[in-house]
Amino acid sequence: MIIARTLTQLREALDGVSESIGFVPTMGALHSGHRTLIETARNENGCVVVSIYVNPTQFLAGEDLSSYPRKEEADFKICELSGVDVLFYPQTLYGTDEVSVKAPDIRGYILEGASRPGHFDGVLTVVMKLFNSVRPTRAYFGKKDAQQLALITQMVENFGIPVAIRPQETVRESDGLALSSRNVYLNPSQRQEALKLSCALKESTKLVMGGVLSTATITEAMYAILEPLEVEYVAIVNRAFEAISEVVVGDTIVLVAARVGTTRLIDNVWM
Ligand code: AMP
Repeated sequence: MIIARTLTQLREALDGVSESIGFVPTMGALHSGHRTLIETARNENGCVVVSIYVNPTQFLAGEDLSSYPRKEEADFKICELSGVDVLFYPQTLYGTDEVSVKAPDIRGYILEGASRPGHFDGVLTVVMKLFNSVRPTRAYFGKKDAQQLALITQMVENFGIPVAIRPQETVRESDGLALSSRNVYLNPSQRQEALKLSCALKESTKLVMGGVLSTATITEAMYAILEPLEVEYVAIVNRAFEAISEVVVGDTIVLVAARVGTTRLIDNVWM
């Protein structure tokens, strides 16, 4: 595995590559969710590139940028054992006073974008930089970050970026908790409380399977399960992230964001 720490080293590592390039961008503290993305990239491409970069522009003031979990040694090992060809591990990707990408007003500033205004501008800017540096054939993203996935897909369409976006299912612990690098912040009792997110989502699926399609009814049932967590939002939207009054199976995403202690967690289910 080649470790490229600068853009020049990255291009040196990739310039002779004629096979397809599968790319998995991450912020590190790798877990089985990331590993699944890497494995799929490995199966579908001749060359696999993973980036690990805690992107400062997607954190708002007061968020956990400085304390975000960093596990360099373990991450390198996971990448090596997963058959990664090139690990891109830059110190920084920014100069001063740079051009940036702006998320669309509505889709980029609702839900996650309302709770974290400007977050998606930072995400899209860094993904644009990474795409232009790695020039991947396919890029792998988790459905766990559903709104991020939708916005990256839109950016690729709007800018005509020649990459295929490959969405991947959310990987969970056996009890349902969605894997997240931020789960390390949870103490044992908070971890138990955090299960309310996946329980509420399971309930939404159960209701829909039982014929309840009213999003108001489903939302109310989910809030009852999430109690007493500090819920930031429960939302039921179509794939274009528009609010809907009735679930349409095949075109619906149910999303939740809540705080467990000071840790902010998100999860969702695609129906
Ligand atoms: P992050 O390191 O949190 O920026 O995530 C890097 C990529 O891994 C993103 O595409 C995420 O959506 C994806 N990801 C994070 N958690 C999971 C999970 N539990 N299952 C599948 N993909 C995930």
